[in-house]
Amino acid sequence: MTQMSAVDDNSEVVLYAVSEGIATLTMNRPRYHNAQNSKMTYALDAAFRRAVDDDAVKVIVLRGAGKNFSAGHDIGTPERDAHESFERQHLWYDHVGKPGAEQQLVREQEVYLGMCRRWRDIPKPTIAMVQGACIAGGLMLAWVCDLIIASDDAYFQDPVLQMGIPGVEYFAHAFELHPRIAKEFLFLGEKMRADRAQQMGMVNRVVAREALETETMSVARKLGAQPRMALALAKQSINHVEDLRGKRTAMDAAFGWHHFAHAHNSLLTGNNLGGLDAKAMAAANKKNG
Ligand code: ZN
Repeated sequence: MTQMSAVDDNSEVVLYAVSEGIATLTMNRPRYHNAQNSKMTYALDAAFRRAVDDDAVKVIVLRGAGKNFSAGHDIGTPERDAHESFERQHLWYDHVGKPGAEQQLVREQEVYLGMCRRWRDIPKPTIAMVQGACIAGGLMLAWVCDLIIASDDAYFQDPVLQMGIPGVEYFAHAFELHPRIAKEFLFLGEKMRADRAQQMGMVNRVVAREALETETMSVARKLGAQPRMALALAKQSINHVEDLRGKRTAMDAAFGWHHFAHAHNSLLTGNNLGGLDAKAMAAANKKNG
């Protein structure tokens, strides 16, 4: 039986439900292709926390409501909240009101890099169920999950180079893809279709759109039948291999360049995204195929 959270309704940016030991977290801003504002990021964090704390939950599925998984970070909806304070989860101070490049560095350390690392280390198996667009900040959410199951209409893309930025904050590109493919992916900023993403090893399974939920839940049920502790240890062991390969330090270095780029943009244009808003990015994307 599905137990929906008491606070769940369509105004919630993240829906939470548990059924058969599987917690499903649904990003719920379909009108904005599930663009992530801070409200959503903190709601996701709270939902992950809830799923971790609940002994009845064996597996966590992350999905997006509507046609798309996630179009990335919110860079232009009416509910953009990058300048608001939230109850923080890491020991960084509040970003609001800080001068120069400090504000954005502190904010992104908390809501992007910090949160993604936190979610990647969740001691229960996580599955990203991806349909439609999985762009930039959306990629970060899929990448922190252990498995990615995509529908055949899904595509993956990091187009932020057009903004003068060398890739999204959680810089896992060269761990998700062979470095040569990662370069192509970043340099050209093109869409990578689900079938190619699977060939490249970034996606575990690709199924027809109408079979996506059934397939994801079937894998989740199989995971849920495995011993909890062994899954946690296997996950930690593989994450440790990635860390020994330099994932964390590579990401720290890239995060520094990422913020150099934001600051450079601000010096040149007065805007940390180089003056490109969601509309301009969408228009550039159309050209890009
Ligand atoms: Zn950034």
